[in-house]
Amino acid sequence: MYKIIIILILLIILFYMVRRAARAWIEPKPDEATPGKDVMIQDPVCKTYVTTGTAIVEEVSGQKYYFCSQDCAKHFRREGTA
Ligand SMILES: [Zn+2]
Repeated sequence: MYKIIIILILLIILFYMVRRAARAWIEPKPDEATPGKDVMIQDPVCKTYVTTGTAIVEEVSGQKYYFCSQDCAKHFRREGTA
């Protein structure tokens, strides 16, 4: 009788482990912020669209800005979006 209870407990543990593993495997992880992903973002200086993977990233007062080139990033730091 004890053996049956132990086997049942082991089966329940196994079931939960398999279910967790299956869920982690099936559900895609949120990877929007992953560098290299081609998300189109507008350069605030020259209005060109750049991809986050290739853009120059500048963080100004906690916010990230993406630029097509170092020149645009420099311009933004000096004069803002104007
Ligand atoms: Zn630019």
